[in-house]
Amino acid sequence: MKRALLVTLILGLVISFFAFDLQRFLTLEVLKQSQHDFAALNAQSPLQVAGVFFALYVVVTALSLPGAVIMTLAAGALFGLLEGLLLVSFASSIGATLAFLVSRFVLRDSVQQRFGDRLNAINAGMEKDGALYLFTLRLIPVFPFFLINLLMGLTPMRTGTFYWVSQAGMLAGTLVYVNAGTQLGQLQSLSGILSPALLFSFVLLGIFPLIARKFIAWIQARRVYARWQRPERYDRNLIVIGAGAAGLVSAYIAAAVKAKVTLIETHKMGGDCLNYGCVPSKALIKSAKLAQQIRHGECYGLNTQTPDFSFRKVMARVHEVILNVAPHDSVERYTGLGVEVLQGYARITDPWAVEIKLNDGTTQMLTTRSIVIATGASPFVPPLPGLDEVGYVTSDTLWEKFAEMDTPPRRLVVLGGGPIGCELAQSFARLDSKVTQIEMAPRIMMREDSEVSEMARESLVADGVEVLTDHKALRCEKEGEHKYIVVEHDDVVRRIEFDTLICAVGRSARLKGFGLEELGIPTERTVNTNDYLETLYPNIFAAGDVAGPYQFTHTAAHQAWYAAVNALFGDFKKFKADYSVIPWATFIEPEVARVGLNEQEAREQDVAYEVTKFAIDDLDRAIVDGTAYGFVKVLTVPGKDKILGVTIVGEHAGDLLAEFVLAMKHGLGLNKILGAIHAYPTLAEANKYVAGEWKRAHAPQKVLAWLERYHAWKRG
Ligand SMILES: Cc1cc2nc3c(=O)[nH]c(=O)nc-3n(C[C@H](O)[C@H](O)[C@H](O)COP(=O)(O)OP(=O)(O)OC[C@H]3O[C@@H](n4cnc5c(N)ncnc54)[C@H](O)[C@@H]3O)c2cc1C
Repeated sequence: MKRALLVTLILGLVISFFAFDLQRFLTLEVLKQSQHDFAALNAQSPLQVAGVFFALYVVVTALSLPGAVIMTLAAGALFGLLEGLLLVSFASSIGATLAFLVSRFVLRDSVQQRFGDRLNAINAGMEKDGALYLFTLRLIPVFPFFLINLLMGLTPMRTGTFYWVSQAGMLAGTLVYVNAGTQLGQLQSLSGILSPALLFSFVLLGIFPLIARKFIAWIQARRVYARWQRPERYDRNLIVIGAGAAGLVSAYIAAAVKAKVTLIETHKMGGDCLNYGCVPSKALIKSAKLAQQIRHGECYGLNTQTPDFSFRKVMARVHEVILNVAPHDSVERYTGLGVEVLQGYARITDPWAVEIKLNDGTTQMLTTRSIVIATGASPFVPPLPGLDEVGYVTSDTLWEKFAEMDTPPRRLVVLGGGPIGCELAQSFARLDSKVTQIEMAPRIMMREDSEVSEMARESLVADGVEVLTDHKALRCEKEGEHKYIVVEHDDVVRRIEFDTLICAVGRSARLKGFGLEELGIPTERTVNTNDYLETLYPNIFAAGDVAGPYQFTHTAAHQAWYAAVNALFGDFKKFKADYSVIPWATFIEPEVARVGLNEQEAREQDVAYEVTKFAIDDLDRAIVDGTAYGFVKVLTVPGKDKILGVTIVGEHAGDLLAEFVLAMKHGLGLNKILGAIHAYPTLAEANKYVAGEWKRAHAPQKVLAWLERYHAWKRG
C-alpha cells in the first residue's frame, strides 16, 4: 500500500514535470538569459535563494529528472565556485541517496525474488567491493547519474556508504561543472565542458582505485615472500603432493596442458578413495546386499536361504576389487600421461622448493613455480579414555585387519552415525555381525532431513543394527578378555560389550609434518584458502579433503581443476571454485542422494521453498524389482519450477540424482525434466513423475474451468 502510494506520487510529479514542459527552464539559453535576474535576486536574499536552489536540486536529482547538469552550471554562475560547489555537492548526494532509497523500497525485493540465486555473486561482490565500484562509477561522469542511483538501490549496499562514497566520488566532476558555470558567458554548449582530455583524466581517476588495489595485493604478495629467496629458474611448473583424487586430477590436468609436473605420493597411489574409502566400502556393500537378497529370496519367488559365505572370501573380493581399479590410478598410467611420479614423502621447504624423501632412502630437492597440496584427511580418533587399551579399527586399518578373519566380528560396535558409520554398520550387520551403532546426536545422518534419517534408522534396525542415538560414549573398559564401551543416555549409564570397535566419527585434514608450520601457512580444521584455492602464498594451492569444506572424491577432483588451472594460468585468468551444485550419496539401502538444499537447510537459511514429492512405491520399475520404497523430494522456488534442491531415497538414488545435478547446473527447471522422454520401465521415470506432480499442483485452475465449459459447449 505504502509502496503504491509512493510510486503514484513519484509518477505524478515526473509526469507533471514533462506535461508542463518544465524542462524548458533547464537549458543553457534560459540560464544565460536569466543569469542577471537571478544574480539580482541572490543579492537581495542570498539565504532564501540558496535554500530554494538547494531544495530544487534535491528534488530534481531525487526524481531522476533531467536538468542536474544545468543546475550545476547555474550554481557556479550564481554562487561562485566555493559556495556553488558546497551546495551542489550536498544537494546532489542527498538527492541521489533519496533516489537510491526509493529504488530500494519500491523495487529491491521483487528484483531479488525474481532473480534469486543468480544475484548471489553480485550481492557478494557488492558487499565486498561495492564502495570501490561505486566510487569508480561516480568518478567517471559518463555513467548516467540517475541510473547509478537506481541500480545501487537494488544491491545490499548500506545507505551511509552510498551517501559518502557518492559525495566523494562526484566531487571532481561537480568541481569541473561548477567551475564551468562561473564562466557561463563563454560557454557555448554543454558538450564543450568535458573535453576528451578531461574525460580521459576522469577515466584514469576512476580506474585508479582498482589499479591501487591490484598494487596493494602485489605488495602484500611480495611481503609474504620477502623472507624467501626465489630461485632464478624452476625445475617444474607444478609439484603435486598426494596422489588421491585431488592430486591425481591436478597432475593429470597439468600434464594435459604440457606443463612439467611431478606428483609425489608417500603411500598408496589412489589415496583414501581407492584403498580405504569409496572402493572397498562399495565392494563390501555389494556383497552384503547380495547376502541380504538371498536371505529374502521369497520376495522374488525363490526359496529363502541363509546365505552361506566365507567372510575371508568376501574380504578377499574387496581387495581384488581394489586391485582391479588400481590401474586407473597407477604410477604406470600417470607416467604414460606425462606425469613424473615420485614415491616418497614430500615436505615444502620454501614457497618454491619441495624436498622429497624417496621410499628408496634417497632425498631429492625440486624447485617449482607452483605447488598443489592434496594430502587428504585421516580418520579422527576421539580422545576416549581406555580406547587404546581395548583397541579399535578405522577405515584406514579395517580392510587389512578384517581380511585376516574367517568370520565377521561377532559383536561389533560402530562409533559414529554419519554416512561412513551407517554404510559399515549395515554391511556388517548383513554379514552376520551383531552391530551396535552409537551416535551422540539425536539422529543418524544429521545433515539430511529428519524423515530421511528416520528411514535410514528403520532400515538399519530392520537389518539387525541396534541404533543408539543421543548416546554419548564416555569411555572404554577392559576386564580380562572382555571389552566394553560405556555410554550415557538420559543420565543413564550403560556398558556394551563388544569384540571389535570401528571408529567412524569423522576425518581430519592432514596438515602436519610437510612444511605448513614452517612456512606459516594458516590452517584451522583444513588449510585456509581463498576462493581461488590459494593459500597464504599465492603460488601454493590446496585441493581435496585437506582444503575442505567437502570430503568427497568428486569434490576433490572438482577442486583439483581450479587449483591446477589457477596454478598454471593464474597470471592471465584465475577461476573461483564453484560450489553451487554439489551432489553426494550415502550408499546404505535405501540409498540416500542429495544435491542442493534440503528442507532443514532451506529453513536455516531462510530460503522460501515449495516441496514436491513422488513416492517411489508407485513406480512400475521399482514394483517389478521389489524396490518399491523411498521418494524423490524436490524443493523449488515458490510458484516456479526452478530447483533449489533434491533428495532421493531409494534404489540407485545416487544414479537418479544425476539428472537433477545437470538441471541445476544449467538452470533447467522441472518443466524441462517433464518434457524429456524417460525410457519405460526405468527408475529414472521417478524424476519425470515428480516433475509431473509439480505440474499438476500448478495447473492453471481458471483456464481448466473455462476448458470444461468449452468442452461442454462443444458437446452441445
Ligand atoms: C570408508 C570411506 C568411504 C568413502 N566413500 C566415499 C564415497 O562413496 N564417495 C565419495 O565421494 N567419497 C567417499 N569417501 C571420501 C573420499 O575417499 C575422500 O573424500 C577422497 O579420497 C579425498 O581425496 P583427496 O585426494 O583429498 O585425499 P586422499 O585420497 O586422502 O589422498 C591424499 C594422499 O596424500 C598422500 N600424502 C599425504 N601427505 C603426503 C606427503 N607429505 N607427501 C606425499 N604424499 C602425501 C596420502 O598418502 C594420500 O594418499 C569415503 C571415505 C571413506 C574413509
